[in-house]
Parts: sequence; C-alpha cells; structure tokens
Amino acid sequence: MTSDQTFVIVGASLAGAKAAETLRAEGFDGRLVLVGAEDERPYERPPLSKDYLRGEVDREKVYVHPEGFYAEHDIELRLGRTAVSLNTAGAELALDDGERLRYDRLLLATGAEPRALSIPGAQLDGVVYLRSVADCDALRRRLDRGGAVVVIGAGWIGSEVAASARQRGLEVTVIEPMTVPLERVLGREVGAVYRDIHRDHGVQMLLGTGVEAFEGDTAVERVRTSNGRALECDFVVVGVGIEPRIGLAAQAGLAIDNGILVDEHLRTSASGVFAAGDVANAHHPFYREPIRVEHWANALHQGPAAARAMLGQPEVYDRLPYFFSDQYDVGMEYAGFARAWERVVFRGDPVTREFIAFWLVEDRIVAGMNVNVWDVTDAIQRLISERVAVDARRLADPRVALEDLVPADAGSAA
Ligand SMILES: Cc1cc2nc3c(=O)[nH]c(=O)nc-3n(C[C@H](O)[C@H](O)[C@H](O)COP(=O)(O)OP(=O)(O)OC[C@H]3O[C@@H](n4cnc5c(N)ncnc54)[C@H](O)[C@@H]3O)c2cc1C
Repeated sequence: MTSDQTFVIVGASLAGAKAAETLRAEGFDGRLVLVGAEDERPYERPPLSKDYLRGEVDREKVYVHPEGFYAEHDIELRLGRTAVSLNTAGAELALDDGERLRYDRLLLATGAEPRALSIPGAQLDGVVYLRSVADCDALRRRLDRGGAVVVIGAGWIGSEVAASARQRGLEVTVIEPMTVPLERVLGREVGAVYRDIHRDHGVQMLLGTGVEAFEGDTAVERVRTSNGRALECDFVVVGVGIEPRIGLAAQAGLAIDNGILVDEHLRTSASGVFAAGDVANAHHPFYREPIRVEHWANALHQGPAAARAMLGQPEVYDRLPYFFSDQYDVGMEYAGFARAWERVVFRGDPVTREFIAFWLVEDRIVAGMNVNVWDVTDAIQRLISERVAVDARRLADPRVALEDLVPADAGSAA
C-alpha cells in the first residue's frame, strides 16, 4: 500500500522519535528517514535538569528507545545532520552534507532553543544555557566542582536547575524580574509557594530584579543586577525561555505565528507537511485557538498524532495541555491552560506542600495543579474538559472526591 513512499521526519527528539515509532506500529512499510542535528539518538530532556543533571542516573535512562530500535524498525537515522532547506513545491528537503531527500510526507519536529540574553558579558565563558544532553554534561561537570552559581530566570528550567544545584551543595542565587517564580503561569499566590520552597532550601531569591551585565576577564566572575548589586559567582545558568525553531519552515514559506501554525490534524499550510511538539502552534478545538505547548507530554502525544495524520487517519489532536516538574522533594503536575483567571481555590494548605490549586474563571476550572498529591490528574482534566460549574467550598474540601464534582450527565450535552 505504502511501500513505495518516503516519509521524512526532521528533528530526532521526543516528538520525532515517537512519530517514527508510531508510523511503523501503524503499518507504514515505506522508506522512513529521521534526521537529527544532534549526535545523540533521540532522548528525553526532563532528566537534564533533574536526576541526570545531579548525576543520580546514567545516560541510558534518558533515551527514548534502546540502541538497536531504529535499525530493527528500518528507520534511517541521520544523526549530526541538519536539514538546511525545504522546497515544498518539489517536495524535497536538503541536508547540510548535500543529500537531497524527496518526500511524500514530511514532519517538522524541530523543537525549540533557549532564548539568548544579549547584555554586556553574555559571551563570557561560564555563562551557560541548558537544552541538550551536551549542555547538561558540561553543566554537570561544573556542579561537580561546586562553588557559587547565579541562575537567571525563575521559570521551570531555572527553578529546577536551582533546586538541583542546591541539592549538589552549591551556593545558589536566583535572579528574576517578576515578583515570584513562575509568575506568568502560576500567578502570585501559587508562585509564592515556590519562592518559599527555594528559600527554605537556602537559595537566595532576588525577585523583582533584573540583570544588567556579566563581568569578568575571560570567564564570568560576577553578575551586576538592575539594582546595582554585584554578585560574585563561578558560573551562570540562563533560563529565560525558549523560542520555537522555525528557520526551515519560514524559509519554505509555511504559515508561522509563534511557531509553525498547524490545524487540529497537525497539518501545516503546505500540502503533505506536518508539525508537532514544541515547534507547533496547533489549533486546539477545546480552546478554539492555536496553542503552542512547550512540554514533554505534548511532544509525546503530538508525535504519534502527527504520524497518524501523515497516514491519512482523521484524528483530531485535542488533549489538554499537561506538564510536570520536580524540585527538591516537591513534585507537581499541572493540567489545563490559563492565560487569565479570576481566583485560585486551594484544596489543602499550601504551607504543607501537599495541595491542589485550581484556577477559576467564574465558577469553571481552567487549570489545576496537584502538588505532592497523586492520581488526581484524570479527575482534574475531566473537570476542565467538561467545563463543570463548581461550588468553590466543595472544591476546596478534601473530603469531597473530585469525581463527585462532575455531574453524572456531564459530557452528554457537549
Ligand atoms: C532541561 C529541560 C528539562 C525539561 N523538563 C521538563 C519537565 O519536567 N516537564 C515537561 O513537561 N517538560 C520538560 N521539558 C520540555 C520538554 O523536554 C520538551 O517539551 C520536549 O523536549 C519537546 O520535544 P520536541 O521533540 O518537540 O523538541 P526538541 O526536544 O527541542 O527536539 C527538537 C530536535 O530537532 C533537532 N532539529 C532542529 N532543527 C533541525 C534541523 N533543521 N535539522 C535537523 N534537526 C533539527 C534539534 O537538534 C533537536 O534535537 C524540559 C526541557 C528541558 C530542556
């Protein structure tokens, strides 16, 4: 049926690798090429700010598939190779070594890269970013040497790196222009919980503070803050967000807006070309707008969904956004998506660090986060996706099962 076709995937990371796996599992028996700019076979990034960074697990733990998987499934893995140009009219992709690949279907899973800081001293040795396993290995060696680190940005990556560095015994300072960590996603009330967690572990949290410059001869020796402080340090980790890698798609003239625009079947504006993972700004049927999700579960599920779409299966990608984070002994899961909300309802006392927070608009839950409370994600997602009107007192009461907040007839009228 398909054996004379060629499917090409650009980006050999989680979304790309899961798409390749799914194509074979769904019976695609044509030529399948997976192109990745990194030298490593596909791996997962979450351990790179957690246990792998701290040296608690070995390299094998991070890979998406065992070593022989790609050969066994007749997936041509082109590692250390970058796709440099795309001609959608001719359905041809060019790699940096001159190879040209004609495709019947193409998946762009090119992910994202750290946003760079451009301030004086940004190029000094010792100012580092964390995205790849190579970045992580280099950072791990710095953690081994100990000393003082300044982390710029208290988003997820900055917060997790700060926690891991503290756990390895370094002196850690976090600089963040917002008033609490993770403020954009969690808001002030819940972000304050993370501020306190870090302070309790001995991290110096400089909040409401910007960074003006990095100073040193050849390597960074100090960080100058917006309020005139000079912080001596051995190195700096910058975690100020990521940018979708859209270069190839933009050069090819695909529709771009905060990533590669795709519909609910993950189809780009070019025929036969799909996108998934961190790079895809995908129309979401539940939110009725495009959403770009920069998290592991999205890459894990969108890769396979794109693969099925490449095979012509009419699947709609409508999973609610979900992510997790681990900092010290505090694990959390977050479901939903909230740009704005009217109030936050807590089930359990945040001070105990075992609680669920719900973000509400009117009496509907738009997002929920369970912290050191487990096996509630399905119930939280159901409350969100069914747009259940909740009584805030019952929502806050741990004696009321979350399942009991969903009316028996929910979903039937949707
Ligand atoms: C340190 C770290 C910790 C994280 N922790 C969590 C967490 O706890 N929870 C969570 O939900 N998410 C976490 N994430 C986010 C999660 O890892 C990402 O959402 C996920 O990696 C996205 O996968 P992807 O396949 O879409 O893209 P990426 O992982 O970015 O991979 C894209 C790949 O494409 C390659 N590529 C790009 N352009 C080309 C080209 N032109 N030619 C060839 N190859 C190309 C890149 O080299 C890269 O290997 C973390 C991310 C990092 C960096």
